[in-house]
Amino acid sequence: MQYINGEWLDGAGTFAVTNPATGDEIGRVADGGAAEAEAAVDAADAAFAAWSSTTAYERADALYTAWRSMTERASDLADLMTTEQGKPIRAARNEVKYASDFLLWYAEEAKRIYGETIPSARSDQRFVVMRQAVGVCAAITPWNYPISMLTRKLGPALAAGCTVVLKPAEQTPLCARAVFEIFHDVGLPAGVVNLVNAADPVPVGTAWLADERVRKLSFTGSTDVGKHLAAGAAASVKRVSMELGGHAPFIVFDDADPVHAAKGAAMVKFLNTGQACISPNRIYVQRAIADEFLATLADRVSKMRAGSGFVDGVSIGPLVDEASVAKVDRHVSDARDKGARVLTGGQRLTADGLDAGHFYAPTVLADVTPEMAIHCEETFGPVAPVIVFDDEDDIVELANDTTYGLAAYVYTNDVSRAWRVAEGLRFGIIGINDINPTSAAAPFGGVKESGIGREGGHVGLDEYLDTKLVGWSV
Ligand code: ADP
Repeated sequence: MQYINGEWLDGAGTFAVTNPATGDEIGRVADGGAAEAEAAVDAADAAFAAWSSTTAYERADALYTAWRSMTERASDLADLMTTEQGKPIRAARNEVKYASDFLLWYAEEAKRIYGETIPSARSDQRFVVMRQAVGVCAAITPWNYPISMLTRKLGPALAAGCTVVLKPAEQTPLCARAVFEIFHDVGLPAGVVNLVNAADPVPVGTAWLADERVRKLSFTGSTDVGKHLAAGAAASVKRVSMELGGHAPFIVFDDADPVHAAKGAAMVKFLNTGQACISPNRIYVQRAIADEFLATLADRVSKMRAGSGFVDGVSIGPLVDEASVAKVDRHVSDARDKGARVLTGGQRLTADGLDAGHFYAPTVLADVTPEMAIHCEETFGPVAPVIVFDDEDDIVELANDTTYGLAAYVYTNDVSRAWRVAEGLRFGIIGINDINPTSAAAPFGGVKESGIGREGGHVGLDEYLDTKLVGWSV
């Protein structure tokens, strides 16, 4: 169903939603196109004047109510996510919590949209700076975090006083519908948030890019699509926030505990089966501790179990589709052909009922080199490529030698080195001995081709606010 101007609408046709662990169809969703995209903008545009002039306290109240509702529905939302997206149920519960955190954080931040006064050089002049809602915002979201990527945009947009048209990924429309049911049930005025589902994203994206009423585009997805959308947004000088691909280095220095670091690498690399933009893509370990690190990593990864996210003990869910399995396979084959050693995994999983889903064995590769595709292309799958290094300066240079710049991880117990390396790495997010440097309260986003703008934290609100200067002669 589409959700436009406060109503649930059917479309001319529907498209199927499948469970990636079993291949079963789990629902059908109305298929939208340019007409629905335009109707959604009509509604958001009509609702903007009233919504943007509500008080910050009213908007905060709406977000608090949505947060409470999401918290009450957390268990059902997590079940739905595991069915539709495939991640293990514990991870799905964590994501629902993370998603609701954005509603709570921006309920609080709505009340802190401060302006400023600036001294003038003229005695008869005063300057006042105010922050105002940007206008109608278009949001396009991915399938890998199918609830939190929505609230990470809706929370700050609504807090700022913007109205929103949103297109979720075609793989996960049911999670999106469940989020919009919350906003419907909490009584958000008609047109403030609108949902357009489409099997083909292009007509919807094209309509929103062409529509001058849309003043901002917030996108999370691949770098290629992000570049295309940013270029299109330039035609009417829309503001953009882009959260794109990554190729995170994970650097372990020899003053760190190799076992602790390997446990961290195993946890963060295989989260969401490696389908995360902050997933480590290159694990660099300093020579003196490389053997111990690799042994621990391979041992832990070999014990990980793949399967349905509802089965106890499963930590590896399916990949999203066949193309993803093929890409992982290509990266592993290429690495193997160029001399990498497969310490564990290295093949598709089809036994024990996994043949109907898109499963790939959690894999550790040793002796990886910069010539291999996996060293520069985003894998988005359960493969940990390990490279041994010798020198601190060289490794920072190699880590930076990428067009991406989202997340980087460093393990060291040397405080000076931690500072030096954190400052030297050209990435938007750095984890120092920390595999989860994310929070609704903290800015998330990349540099270089990983993106523009930040989501989360108080700066996440700036993305939805224009700065207006008022100069007065008194
Ligand atoms: P992924 O590789 O993670 O699937 P995509 O960038 O293809 O990443 O998809 C992220 C989101 O962008 C999805 O909602 C998808 O439907 C949407 N999308 C993909 N291509 C376009 C496009 N040309 N115009 C608008 N949206 C698009």
